[in-house]
Amino acid sequence: MPIHRATWHRLAPKNSIPGLPCPQCTPGKLKVVKDTLHVREPKYVQDWRGKNPDDWEPDFAVERWSATLRCDEPACGEFVNMIGDIEVVEVDLDLEDGLPSWGYQDVLRIQALFPVPPLFRISDNVPKPVKKQLEVAFRMFWTDTSACVSRLRTAVERLLDDQGVPKERLLTKGKNAGKMHRMDLHERIDSFTSGSAHKNQLQGLRNIGNLGTHGGDDVDDDDLFDAVNVLEFVLTGIYDTKTINAMADKLKGKKAQP
Ligand SMILES: [Zn+2]
Repeated sequence: MPIHRATWHRLAPKNSIPGLPCPQCTPGKLKVVKDTLHVREPKYVQDWRGKNPDDWEPDFAVERWSATLRCDEPACGEFVNMIGDIEVVEVDLDLEDGLPSWGYQDVLRIQALFPVPPLFRISDNVPKPVKKQLEVAFRMFWTDTSACVSRLRTAVERLLDDQGVPKERLLTKGKNAGKMHRMDLHERIDSFTSGSAHKNQLQGLRNIGNLGTHGGDDVDDDDLFDAVNVLEFVLTGIYDTKTINAMADKLKGKKAQP
């Protein structure tokens, strides 16, 4: 199912933490447990402001916070801890005289969650080494967009390992004939997907993962969400087709009651 992009913001107003999916159960959503949001200002910030009241600017604010979330499925009830700092953003205000104005507001910047909510539900049929990389990618989402897509690329490598795609091949032509050649990810994907619908999708993931690995600002959240959707689709195609076909066969074989 395509990711619901509006849920995945790293900034949240203090009274409106997004309803992220439960890491433990499929239908559950995480809700903040009452009175568990604790925001604290370090003493060194208080001291500095006290000594320099005329120099203080709203965006100098430094605060640390934590909150506990609980899954809203009664039979699950998983707890998730969320931590972060704050960011000062500009907001539109309506003054008493009716004139529009603007001001500053502290919002929560989410830095980490544990256990981490999944960017998509991983099928039980996906092998463990792939799953492990995906779970790291889900953690990286809150920290670094580039690192997240880079981990999605590593998940593609583990997928190829699982599918038995070789990492080396024997050269038969040219001056290096008879020698082994280490295949890069591009070659491994080509070898795995010759004639397959997944070729384009996996090469897309490889490319965006490479850009992520190089760091910088080349990869944005839209790329990340696109990569998540493409990878989920590929994993379903590779690991769940058998299950889906079995369901289709069952439906086809069902007869009307006499
Ligand atoms: Zn749950």
